[in-house]
Amino acid sequence: MQALKLSNGAEIPALGLGVWQVPEGPVTEGAVVAALEAGYRLIDTAQAYGNEQSVGRALRSSGLPREEIFLTTKFLPSRRDPLAEMKKSLERLDTDYVDLYLVHWPQGGPTAAWPGMEAAHAAGLAKAIGVSNFSAAELATVSKSSEVAPMANQFQYSPFLDRRTLVEACLAANVVPQGYSPLGTGEHLDDPAVAKIAATTGRTPAQILIRWSLQRGVSVIPKSSTPARIKENYAALDFELDEAAMATLDALDTTNHTPEAKAPGQKWWS
Ligand code: NDP
Repeated sequence: MQALKLSNGAEIPALGLGVWQVPEGPVTEGAVVAALEAGYRLIDTAQAYGNEQSVGRALRSSGLPREEIFLTTKFLPSRRDPLAEMKKSLERLDTDYVDLYLVHWPQGGPTAAWPGMEAAHAAGLAKAIGVSNFSAAELATVSKSSEVAPMANQFQYSPFLDRRTLVEACLAANVVPQGYSPLGTGEHLDDPAVAKIAATTGRTPAQILIRWSLQRGVSVIPKSSTPARIKENYAALDFELDEAAMATLDALDTTNHTPEAKAPGQKWWS
């Protein structure tokens, strides 16, 4: 499995399974088990997703040693105490630690949750800590004022939302960039340029979009609750897009390579 190096020395798999909007219960359990069987070793959940318990059950039932799996969850910033919420997550996930704990979005300002995130890290409950939906400026603010700097930033990323300046800011600060919604929550799968590259390479549109992120050096976490698609997406590790295909995909960007993590006016909280 391709991997990226975190500043704590650990490796984070380049490709993982995301489980946003996958309901708690057999659907989440089935998706996570299918992913682990297909070879995935990174699972991305969050306190906001309401399915940590099912993720935990699937990890147990897979029989895989805990240390072979990279588990991410995210602090829900409308709550007060990242350390207390970490302990509750660990109970639901039925494990002693997570590999990565992210502030889900910068509610209350970029540094609001960080002391509590550092406390979860110091207690050994989160091996790595990071942020999500943070712009380059927000990332710099939290890095400057922290004892333990963020190790990863997860943000919306695809050829259509090629936040390249944000990726570069992450890499310059030794922060692993991780892209979410690589398929545009399904909306980019019908794009004609993507479909054309899929047809000429003998791959599927989902594989093309996932592969583009991997080749840009960004960890990526496509979601599917369909075992056949979970397997199909994993095969994005097995081929390469040539320069012409990458350039065609690059041309789809609508953000002018923004350093922002959100579209103007877009907010993740009320
Ligand atoms: P994706 O961009 O990964 O797209 C998922 C959609 O595409 C689903 O409808 C899925 O359908 C469909 N799909 C997946 N694979 C295929 C395939 N091979 N062929 C056809 N359709 C396919 O969506 P998300 O927005 O969920 O992003 C992925 C993950 O990123 C999330 O699950 C979450 O873990 C993370 N995320 C993080 C956020 C944050 O704020 N930090 C915000 C949003 C997402 P089906 O399931 O029916 O197969």
